[in-house]
Amino acid sequence: MKLFGSSGIRGLTNVDVTPELALNVGKAAGKKRTCAVIARDPRVAGPMIEQAIASGLMCSGVDVTWLGIVPTPTLAYAARDFDIGVMVTASHNPAQDIGIKLWNPDGMAFDSKQQEEIEQTISSSDYAPVEWNDIGTTHIYENSVEDHITAILDNIDLPKRDYKVVVDCGSGAGSVITPWLLRRMGCRVLTLNAQPDGHFTARNPEPKEKNVGLLMKTVKDTGADLGIAHDGDADRMMAVDDKGRFVGGDQMLAIFAAYEDTDKIVVPVDTSMVVDDALPGTKITRSRVGDVYVAECMKKTGASFGGEPSGSWIFPKISFCPDGIYAAARLIEIINSRKLCELVDGLPKYQTKRAGIACERIKMADVMEKTAAQLSLLGDVSMIDGIRVETGNGWVLVRPSGTEPKIRITAETRSGVDEQFSIVERIVEDAI
Ligand code: MG
Repeated sequence: MKLFGSSGIRGLTNVDVTPELALNVGKAAGKKRTCAVIARDPRVAGPMIEQAIASGLMCSGVDVTWLGIVPTPTLAYAARDFDIGVMVTASHNPAQDIGIKLWNPDGMAFDSKQQEEIEQTISSSDYAPVEWNDIGTTHIYENSVEDHITAILDNIDLPKRDYKVVVDCGSGAGSVITPWLLRRMGCRVLTLNAQPDGHFTARNPEPKEKNVGLLMKTVKDTGADLGIAHDGDADRMMAVDDKGRFVGGDQMLAIFAAYEDTDKIVVPVDTSMVVDDALPGTKITRSRVGDVYVAECMKKTGASFGGEPSGSWIFPKISFCPDGIYAAARLIEIINSRKLCELVDGLPKYQTKRAGIACERIKMADVMEKTAAQLSLLGDVSMIDGIRVETGNGWVLVRPSGTEPKIRITAETRSGVDEQFSIVERIVEDAI
């Protein structure tokens, strides 16, 4: 039974993710553990799912500590004092979705093996309920935001002047921390959508350019130095520069990495060659797509920075969880040396084209195999996640979609992206 996707258990409330499932996840996660910490984003279904998981954990004898509504990275940071962290969130998904993500004490999400253990326990109902007098206790801990803020302040230099920063929390969990942290850093903070609201009526919780028009306009209208946008649980962070322009994820990745003073970074296979070209001399390892795979690969390679262009930035000095709050503070530290618009304009620009081709799931493996054989004639092939080919003039990635019956093609080139894309498109279509 497959419950976990690339970002934990996630789906429609009371259809895909039910209190019964949450109870079972709690019972399974409670096996061989004694203490857990649990938190949620502001989603409407949060309390229902959170309480069901807590019941399951207590049934297995686990003492449960509640943090309330806090961001995922705040929960992941708090997990260092417990056997397990549980976050009830559907991240950037629409309001009707809910999800569960499990965390290790070092702030890394459960890896594939740990996820399979939970799935195995649930499918075989192999729980370990305790005697009545060993049932877990519950505690409330109110200082997790302050702990996280302190850890961040200990790891950054305060800005040289009082930057004006517009923070768009998207009515998510970031509302309880990011504006307060930036004020403590001496910034003049203007907030947008900074009241937690599980209906997400203000904007779609995904921090994409099309969803943060108000932030871009506010940065421009108020002459701010920077705009920050979070997703629903604030593990993600994206930025708007001092000209009011949304900064793309690949550009953000290159800027963070350039300032990290490291010779090793990890990025997923769909990352732009902007990163390679902006960081000569840095060893760039490409991982599967998904922040947990980036984190896993960072541990393996000893990289001190990793990230995904979707807005997930991982700094192990805080934890192995993408931390949109630390990333916001870090970006302010970076603009101390140069304006964000100058950093963005200093990066190379390439042509990118993306599209999906419908393909039945049953045919997918066969189509990918045929496509790989043809693509290997174009250049060096890597099969970490889908098929990535270095073509000399750029790269292409052909990958089955995780959510739809489609094969996705991405092409990035120094010039002539349309021709490159059509060559690959034809290869995939022929294989179908
Ligand atoms: Mg998220």
